[in-house]
Amino acid sequence: MRIAVIDYEKCNPKKCSYECIRFCPRNRAGDKCIFKGEEGKPIIDENICIGCGICIKKCPFRAIQVVNLPEALKENPVHRFGRNGFVLYRLPIPTPGKVIGLLGSNGTGKSTALKILSGKLEPNLGGSETSIEKMFRGNELQDYFGKLAGTRTVYKPQQVDQIPEIYKGKVTKVVNKKGKEFLERLHLSYITDRDVSDLSGGELQRLAIAMALSRDGDFYFIDEPSSYLDVRERLEVGKLIREVSREKTVMVVEHDLATLDFMADQIHIFYGTPGVYGIVSKPYGVRVGINTFLHGYIKEDNVRMRPEPIRFEVISPTKEKENPVLVRFSEIKKKLEKFILVTEPGRIYAEDVLGIFGANALGKTTFARIMSGELEPDSGLINPRVRISYKPQYIHTNHEGTVGEVLRKNSNFSKYKNYLLGPLSLERLMDSRVKTLSGGEAQRLVIALCLLQDAEMYLLDEPSAYLDVEQRLAAAKVIQNIVKLREATCMVIDHDLLFLDFISRRGMVFLGEPGKEGMAKEPAGLEKAFNTFLKDLKVTFRRDPENGRPRANKPESVKDREQKEKGNYYYS
Ligand code: SF4
Repeated sequence: MRIAVIDYEKCNPKKCSYECIRFCPRNRAGDKCIFKGEEGKPIIDENICIGCGICIKKCPFRAIQVVNLPEALKENPVHRFGRNGFVLYRLPIPTPGKVIGLLGSNGTGKSTALKILSGKLEPNLGGSETSIEKMFRGNELQDYFGKLAGTRTVYKPQQVDQIPEIYKGKVTKVVNKKGKEFLERLHLSYITDRDVSDLSGGELQRLAIAMALSRDGDFYFIDEPSSYLDVRERLEVGKLIREVSREKTVMVVEHDLATLDFMADQIHIFYGTPGVYGIVSKPYGVRVGINTFLHGYIKEDNVRMRPEPIRFEVISPTKEKENPVLVRFSEIKKKLEKFILVTEPGRIYAEDVLGIFGANALGKTTFARIMSGELEPDSGLINPRVRISYKPQYIHTNHEGTVGEVLRKNSNFSKYKNYLLGPLSLERLMDSRVKTLSGGEAQRLVIALCLLQDAEMYLLDEPSAYLDVEQRLAAAKVIQNIVKLREATCMVIDHDLLFLDFISRRGMVFLGEPGKEGMAKEPAGLEKAFNTFLKDLKVTFRRDPENGRPRANKPESVKDREQKEKGNYYYS
């Protein structure tokens, strides 16, 4: 079975000459494979299409995708967005008393599934005459949809930055009594007298979670709860979600594998071609589900999601000192209003990727600004000062031009485009206007723009935000490659521990009291840095023997106690 999807936002018949229709070999043979619809936009008849790919290549706006579905897939779609739109097959199963995690690439239907299960979107079953209850006869979903009308569902949306557009006024007015208790649990009592419009991304995220979990519901659907949060906050949110799940059903979309592993009981994998189709796997136990995803092979559908399994390499300490020193710094002190940053003396090596660990508001970005010379320290020496290319944490995409125009403006574009465009999946976006990009698309663009600059040090602040797991790992490889090619150094500030483990060769830990005092440890080997960081969090990690990924131990489990006794918080 073949799926042909046209992105009607990209399709622009006023600026093309219907190449898709003119060059289609079935049309040329007299069939009506691609034809003009009522609004003048093309329609592809999937029953006639032979999947030759000519229309895909001829369309000047890269608006068409045609892909074959797995042969093992026999059932009808649950939902299709229009005749040549995205198709979703199967649904995850909400299970009372459990946290169900949804894992998969952006654009494979996770949010669509949540909207269907929460009753916000009525599934059209791909135009089939059957009913949703009949479609899932004999399965838990039949019962679920039978009761959906009387079920109270609560949905926490992905885009928390839109909350101030919906809720106006003081926080105290938008949360109920239970919500205030949850805010206290999440260390946010101090925001109750503040205006919603004055909150940071991390505060908005925790407010949205507290608001959702405090509502009286039977099923809770939580879309990406970790965005904008640091590791401690992610673990606290995970604990709260687990507590709520004891009496209710909770389903969570999450791309941070360490948080998902900590929070979920079962996993459904979403796979397919982003923007074209998505298939929901059967439920797996959390360990098997994440390992199956990283292995990339779905046995029941005989589908390989990627050519190679993903493995996490343990960096040998001998590799840590191979490179020459790029920058030396003494103890640095910098006071900014009520906040003070103090660092230990240290060295940063060339061709190194230095992971920066620490809670929000401990001075990580301040340190980077000092390194670049943008900020002068109150005391301390940095030798030499290096040219830095900086990708900020918050990205603004109000640029008028297209992605291609923005990228081509950089004189290094033709030299490095092969290392950036394919791996960061930017090729299909070259004609898209920057201000229409999604969060993940904009993130990939700004990572590319940062790496195109000539610099001795690349500083990327939260490059994993808005990216799915595949994109995070692809971005990590791109960053490592460019650093090597340019013989530069990279500092990566992030809160996704698997991403930091995957990308970093060394680590630098920021401890202290957020907003008041930041204490930066000297850059050290990855194991030492992780150990210092996790000891401060009082959380232990072990490595999964199948793929080397770090996994959080359950608090007070045998492993957790054993590792704490030995001081091995990060078990490599
Ligand atoms: Fe033109 Fe491409 Fe749209 Fe066909 S799909 S009408 S070639 S823009």
